[in-house]
Amino acid sequence: MELSGKTALITGAGSGIGRATALMMAAAGADIAALSNDADEVNAVVAEIEKLGRKVIGLTADVSSDADMSEAFARTKESFGTLDILFSNAGINGVWAPIEDMQCSEWDQNFAVNMRGSFLSVHYAIPLMKENGGAIVITSSVNGNRIYTSAGASAYASAKAGQVAFTKMAALELARYKIRVNAVCPGWVKTGIGKNTVHRNVEKIRVPAEYPEGKIPLTGGEAGTAEDVAEMVLFLASDRAKHISGTPVFIDGAESLLV
Ligand code: NAD
Repeated sequence: MELSGKTALITGAGSGIGRATALMMAAAGADIAALSNDADEVNAVVAEIEKLGRKVIGLTADVSSDADMSEAFARTKESFGTLDILFSNAGINGVWAPIEDMQCSEWDQNFAVNMRGSFLSVHYAIPLMKENGGAIVITSSVNGNRIYTSAGASAYASAKAGQVAFTKMAALELARYKIRVNAVCPGWVKTGIGKNTVHRNVEKIRVPAEYPEGKIPLTGGEAGTAEDVAEMVLFLASDRAKHISGTPVFIDGAESLLV
């Protein structure tokens, strides 16, 4: 119960990595504010956390909306008073397409959810954390940080690289409040992200290359699990990581070292 007495707000808590982390943090003793833009998902994860005996509030909000996020953090303050942990995790793959074909609105949508979402989450968490300190973890990706071969992912990879730069800027700026900021960079993880993914004409821009056999060296090709990522988020959010800030951690079974 190493998070006993702590409060955590998790974005994208209704599915995949966010859901696994919300359940793991609740099992470790934290009270949870579970945020997603899908009300059904929010209700389902809230019910699961209640069964674990923790205090939990469900927040249906779009992470890219300033008004929604302002309201969500106001509700968190009302319910919990302060915040110890923020997991800024909600994200989409969005449209993967040749740069020439990609529409400006598609590019903007990717940055709105992935980058602006992280900015707004951190922006509104600071006033709730600055008195007592806290831990922030942002979900980035191997894409944009170690992998550049996912054809068509130029918007996604750029936004994910931006999140790591933002992590480092925030780590330095918020150290004065004893707020630590780190990023996790997962490789291929089996989640619901396929629902938010559109591939269009990517075969036109694939660069032919032969990769070594076995896409993920540690597993012989099996994807990681959401819990594999959640374990690292829990560690970074805990006091065991009290001297770690401004660091991206790759959780990919060495996949990104191959390409
Ligand atoms: P997922 O689709 O299972 O979960 C994403 C969650 O975010 C869902 O709860 C969804 O409702 C929520 N969400 C999406 N858009 C939102 C918005 N605008 N406002 C609020 N909530 C929103 O996907 P996942 O794989 O668990 O993704 C979590 C994070 O992990 C994302 O940032 C993604 O880029 C990153 N990631 C995933 C993988 C992978 O292989 N699955 C790899 C690297 C990075």
